[in-house]
Amino acid sequence: MAYSVTLIPGDGIGPEITDAALLVLDATGIDFHWDRQTAGAAALERRGETLPNPVIESIRMTKCALKGPLETPVGGGYRSVNVALRQEFGLYANVRPVRTIIPFRGYDNIDLVLVRENTQGLYAGVEHFVEIGGDPKAVAESVAIVTREGCRRINKFAFEYALHHGRDKVTLVHKANILKMVSGLFLEEGRNVAKEYEGQIACDEKIIDNAAMQLVMKPEQFDVIVTTNMFGDILSDQMAGLVGGLGLAASGNIGDKASIFEAVHGTAPDITGQGKANPAALMLSAAMMLEHLGEMDAGRRVREAVVMTIRDDGVRTGDLGGKATTMEFAKAVARRVA
Ligand code: NAD
Repeated sequence: MAYSVTLIPGDGIGPEITDAALLVLDATGIDFHWDRQTAGAAALERRGETLPNPVIESIRMTKCALKGPLETPVGGGYRSVNVALRQEFGLYANVRPVRTIIPFRGYDNIDLVLVRENTQGLYAGVEHFVEIGGDPKAVAESVAIVTREGCRRINKFAFEYALHHGRDKVTLVHKANILKMVSGLFLEEGRNVAKEYEGQIACDEKIIDNAAMQLVMKPEQFDVIVTTNMFGDILSDQMAGLVGGLGLAASGNIGDKASIFEAVHGTAPDITGQGKANPAALMLSAAMMLEHLGEMDAGRRVREAVVMTIRDDGVRTGDLGGKATTMEFAKAVARRVA
């Protein structure tokens, strides 16, 4: 059986790293039917819009996409394609695993997963200015909105993820001491969900500011972290910093209607077309996609091949201090997978 998956190679280095990831996916022996779609700057050039309808229709059909980075043109009122996709498909969970591949600045054994609520909170987009005394921007107001259902759903997702990925503990990260309602409701639902997993998955709680410090001081005390939108946005980049930056950071955006897997980094216009791009983050995102499709063994094989190629074989692209081109790296990983 072939899996139908929407493929959005993306802008900038997107097509180069996508070719590299496809080579590795091919080596798994799993059959895919790729429905190639164009979005972002490439779509704007060809079709006059950054998110053409066929992209949406394709994802609606396949329910699963592998996506390269997209450029949202600055100015001109174009809304972010990534935000639009998140809203269109209700991609409420952003999952970002971080794991040490090469020891980085004293951190040599990081293995964490952040589950971030992706659609609510302070990023819900409800904000306005208030005019006072002729100043149209005298006051700025942003409203954080969370729902009980949204809080329950993201906490449930985190515990289910922990259960199915052999994880031991979920840490609820919040600021309920100050944001008594918005963060309080998240914590209340987190505690309710935790009770359902008693004896299976441990649970503890940390206030966001303390969690940020503890991540730097004693990261080994964490396993899976679940938190609200803005805290997750900040913590996920902080966690990527513990393993050497965004170059190896993979992500999955999961919803009930569809899931989209992509590297965390952007289009890297400074190195586009030079064969220098590191495709590892997209390959690791593809490994997450395989697991999401139920192909646990293939997902593990791809992840381990990426790790061993970088760590043991020393085949590395320039951003990791090596000399390999994008495709040389891809071929080395594919050999390990096959
Ligand atoms: P960026 O991640 O594209 O680049 C930051 C730096 O990291 C650059 O020096 C780049 O060369 C390097 N880099 C990034 N990925 C790399 C890789 N795989 N291998 C080697 N080096 C890599 O961030 P930016 O410059 O802030 O953004 C450029 C564009 O990307 C913008 O248009 C932005 O909107 C877009 N963007 C898209 C996404 C997405 O689609 N998910 C995410 C972030 C940024």
